[in-house]
Order: sequence, then structure tokens, then C-alpha cells
Amino acid sequence: MAKYVPDIGSRRWVIISPGRQMRPNQARKPRATDTPVVPICPFCVGNEHMTPPEVYRIGAGEKDKPGWQVRVVPNKYPITDTHEVIIHSADDTKDIEDLPIEQVTRILTAYRDRYRAHDNDGQVLIFCNHGFAAGASLKHPHAQLVVVPRQINLDAVSREPVANVVEENNFFITYCPDFSQWPFEVWIAPKIADGKFSSVADSQLSDLAVVLQDALQRVREAQNKGYLHSVHEPGVFVYNFYIYHGENWFIRITPRFVHRAGFELGTGLNVNVVDPTEASKILQEMVI
Ligand SMILES: [Zn+2]
Repeated sequence: MAKYVPDIGSRRWVIISPGRQMRPNQARKPRATDTPVVPICPFCVGNEHMTPPEVYRIGAGEKDKPGWQVRVVPNKYPITDTHEVIIHSADDTKDIEDLPIEQVTRILTAYRDRYRAHDNDGQVLIFCNHGFAAGASLKHPHAQLVVVPRQINLDAVSREPVANVVEENNFFITYCPDFSQWPFEVWIAPKIADGKFSSVADSQLSDLAVVLQDALQRVREAQNKGYLHSVHEPGVFVYNFYIYHGENWFIRITPRFVHRAGFELGTGLNVNVVDPTEASKILQEMVI
């Protein structure tokens, strides 16, 4: 069971969840005394028995057997009482920026369907950690869904006004808000402000797939072109994104080119070294 502890002054909460310590960690550097082993990926096809029983799939085949295109299972090491893993595809190496666009649409369909499945259970947050430095503990690309009880105050920014537009299509607009806490932060929002993520129609999901993939490709290209020196190894692309849990939903992508440090922790103020107006111009110009 997750334990929620409040800070009365700030209305912030902390979740005490010691079971998370037990999770596997492919990111850990091997110690000299380790016997070399080839890590077995529990998210790869053929290893379905290594996860808790699946709760959803897109694609053919029987439950917990191969044939799936997107697979959702409970997280073995949950942060909250409901915590699912959405395995992006059978491919161990390609994520949203490199998968065929039809597969990205399937991933977003799975997000939307699982959001709907838990919509009455609490506040639903879907997030993706891409790269070990962004908090992923397994390499195989995946996202996560957590449900947080409604009485817990989530300290998340609401949708920022549209400014510094990068691109748009029928239903969605991609922009770098004036209030950007991270360099090359990118937001994607419906052009007509609407409700929660559960309200996205099937007919809109392929458009959303296009702008999401485009945004990630543009940021990666800006990194490759050297517009910002990343704190990570050259060629390593590290980001998080999440889908806002409430009304007026949006997707917020935060590339992790920089570390957060003592100043930010001590003040709550973030220093963004790239002006979002400039970031949007650079992202527009990227050939993808
Ligand atoms: Zn895998």
C-alpha cells in the first residue's frame, strides 16, 4: 500500500513507497564482482510470463501470449495502488520518435482506452520516461499509468496559453509556452479546448500521433544539430512526457538536456537557458 503524507503549509504530498526499491535496474553499472549475464527483458515477446497477467492488448493472440502490438500489464513495483505499464511495441529499441506512425496511433489508443478504464477510480496520470537518465529502469520503450486518489492535491501546472507555435494540424497545436521550465519544452494541446484525455475521439488519434512524433523528432534533431549541449552522452536522447490528468488536457514533453540542481531545489525557481520563442523558431526549422 502506498502511504500519502501531506505538507500542510504547501499543500504538497509525498508518497512513501519502499517496494519500489526492489525493482530491476538495467541502468545500474555492473560491479567488478558481478558475473556477466545477458539481462532478460520482461517486456519482450516470448517473455509474457515474466509480468503480472495482462489487462489489455491491441493485436492478435491470446492473453499473456505473443501476437500483441501494444500490451498493458500491472506494474510489479507500483508507486500507487493502481499502476500499469503500457508496453509501446514488440520492438525493444524503437520508441515513438522512430516507430511507424500507425504504431504510434495504437500506443495513443491504448493510453486513451486505459485512461477511460480508470476515469472513475481517481486522478489518472500517463507518463513516459525515455532513457535511464529520465528515470526509466528498463530499456524496452514503455509508458506508465498511475491513479492517484482525488483527495490528493497534484502540484501540476494547468494548460498554458498558446504562444510560439511550432506546428499544427486538423485537431492539435504544438507550441513552446512562454512559461517553459525546461529548454526546448514542447506542449501539444487540442485546438478546441475540451475536457479530459478520455474525450479524445478515435478519429483524432492519428493526428495526435503525427504531432507527437514530429515534436520528438524535432527536439532530437535540434540536439543533434548542437543547439544545446546535452549533459548526456552524444547521441543519447533523454526526455519525459506526460498527459495532464485533468480538464483541458495537454501533453507536455520535457527534454532532459540539463540537470536540476541546488538552486532549483532551494528556491522552486527553474532557470531555462533557452528562450521559448527562440526554441520554437529552431524547432520549426528542423527538417524531419
Ligand atoms: Zn524488451
